Amino acid sequence: MVLIGRSSKIGIIGGTGFYSLFNGAESAKLDNTGAGKAVSIGDIGGRAVAFIPRHGSNHTIPPHKIPYKENIETLHRAGVERVISSTAVGSLRRDYRIGDFVFTDQFINMTSGRESTFFDSEVRHVSTAYPYCTEMRRIAAEAAERLGLSYHSDGTVVIINGPRFSTKAESKFFRSIGADIINMTQYPEVALARERAMCYLNISIITDYDAGLEGEPGEGGEPVSNAELRTRFNENIERLKGLILEIIKAVPDERSCGCKDALVDAE
Ligand SMILES: [Zn+2]
Repeated sequence: MVLIGRSSKIGIIGGTGFYSLFNGAESAKLDNTGAGKAVSIGDIGGRAVAFIPRHGSNHTIPPHKIPYKENIETLHRAGVERVISSTAVGSLRRDYRIGDFVFTDQFINMTSGRESTFFDSEVRHVSTAYPYCTEMRRIAAEAAERLGLSYHSDGTVVIINGPRFSTKAESKFFRSIGADIINMTQYPEVALARERAMCYLNISIITDYDAGLEGEPGEGGEPVSNAELRTRFNENIERLKGLILEIIKAVPDERSCGCKDALVDAE
């Protein structure tokens, strides 16, 4: 739990297009060799906040190769109690529109072959009935409301392995099993954070309509291209940063949610 530098109770994992949060932030490195990853620590609203760019600082790490365990463990050892993550997502529904924010409340995991638990040498079963922090989702929705942003206070994400995008048949299937949005990186990140009893808030930004909303009436609904996705996400980064600042200002020092007790009875 010792950090060279400062400790931080709030950690941010930036997704596609979101590689830096601070200007001139200090970089800290854990002195515990178990998770010796460098994190940037900067001030936001007078609080020390840790930052990790999920895909690396130059967007070189693909979704299936991201060191999810290392990222979460690094934040945990830095003293982080609350994780705020951003992700680019595709929409599977006409009413979840491009540019909208979604505060995800449920996930369906369709990934495979990823290291997804810290409990490899002991038997522990953590409840993930409510994997995303309810208190943080409420704070986020209130912040989005104050800023006049278009948002959804809940949504089910299906996480696919990638790096390819969905086929039309897969996209249709994901809609049929109840997913609202689709992404490649929320799992196992959210589950690992829960295993470390950290609050996890996801802020998804809708950048596309996945493989297209074929057969549905209305405008849009075209399949995604990667160039398109990047452009749209970049347009939203400044709005995202504003939202994160507004959320951090409203986060109380002490947690009143159940996340800190995630490991109680997890045997
Ligand atoms: Zn919580």
